[in-house]
Amino acid sequence: MSQVVHLPGLSQPELVSFIEELGEPGFRGRQIFAALHYRRLRSFDDMTDLAKDLRAKLDECATASTLTVESRYISEDETRRYLMKTHDNLPVETVFIPEERRDTICFSSQSGCPLQCSFCLTAQLGLLRSLTPGEIVEQIIIAQNDAYGVGLKSARGTNLVGMGAGEPFLAFDSLLKALRIMADPKGLHIVPNRVTVSTAGVVPRIRELATIADRPHLAVSLAAPTDELRSLLMPINQKWPLEELLSACKDFEQSLKRGERFTFEYVMLDGVNDSDQQARQLGNLLNRHGLRAKVNLIPHNGAEPLPYRPSPAERIEEFRRVLESKGVHTFVRRPRGRDIFAACGQLAARRGTNPILSVSQLA
Ligand code: SAH
Repeated sequence: MSQVVHLPGLSQPELVSFIEELGEPGFRGRQIFAALHYRRLRSFDDMTDLAKDLRAKLDECATASTLTVESRYISEDETRRYLMKTHDNLPVETVFIPEERRDTICFSSQSGCPLQCSFCLTAQLGLLRSLTPGEIVEQIIIAQNDAYGVGLKSARGTNLVGMGAGEPFLAFDSLLKALRIMADPKGLHIVPNRVTVSTAGVVPRIRELATIADRPHLAVSLAAPTDELRSLLMPINQKWPLEELLSACKDFEQSLKRGERFTFEYVMLDGVNDSDQQARQLGNLLNRHGLRAKVNLIPHNGAEPLPYRPSPAERIEEFRRVLESKGVHTFVRRPRGRDIFAACGQLAARRGTNPILSVSQLA
């Protein structure tokens, strides 16, 4: 693979230069960019408008796709989970979530994850590696082709969320480059305003994002209102504790421009972080930092063998009420694709939909 250039990871100008270096005219580069990202073709053979000898030349030094779909699972609620493989045989998971107004594709930024959040199944894989820009882009191409047909678009349009496996802010350069490629109007044309990226709290990258012009919406995962509990649930808190995290969040909030969204996520774990007192602590904490961001409560998604249960619906409602009484706007996220292990925190490269399969059986 080393000499072979992965074309879906090149921006349009980069692809034009690459093609010119091959001794071809620049417009061919634009044609190939459109073939990859607008027509969503996955091989040079499918680009029948290119001369045969050019296709042969490309096959020698480049590739139009590297991810392969190993399996696809379809939920009762029509959510689709794709278990894919990289060229070096690592798992990548992507979730397509049909919605009334718009569809959402949830992509992964890493194969596995290094963060070890105690309530998340992806942690059990450990970090295999960060994905390249092209591997991020390909996930969207694959999911759209499957859901809409090759090269076809949905009238509803597609939103993206960087909430799959991995910590997007530890794959920051890949992420930003993938977003730039996907925003190109001659390609997928998914602009950053249609994208939300979630971080467990990588403070330097939150601060960096605050300085970037064309950026996605941001979500920050909290999971606890105190350092003591958050460090237990999310070890990243030892490196960037709540005070540091929330002061970066405040600065980010102050950088928000019209139409940009910033939210917190809070996974609801029965008897662990879901009491009225914890809701008050969370409300006070956000108020003390002058944060106005909304909070999204996420009922925990079953993740055997993890020792957590989702908070009961009434508990989540009461938690929400207490937060609202503190002036914090709060929403409850509806779980999607739980039955096929496609919901938040369930991406652990499971083959099949059987929850009894243990992660050690996977490799
Ligand atoms: N690493 C990033 C991206 C993952 S996004 C982050 O931590 O933000 C996935 C969201 O789902 C995060 O808010 C995470 O806290 C939450 N989550 C993880 N495991 C979960 C589970 N089993 N049930 C519900 N939510 C979970």
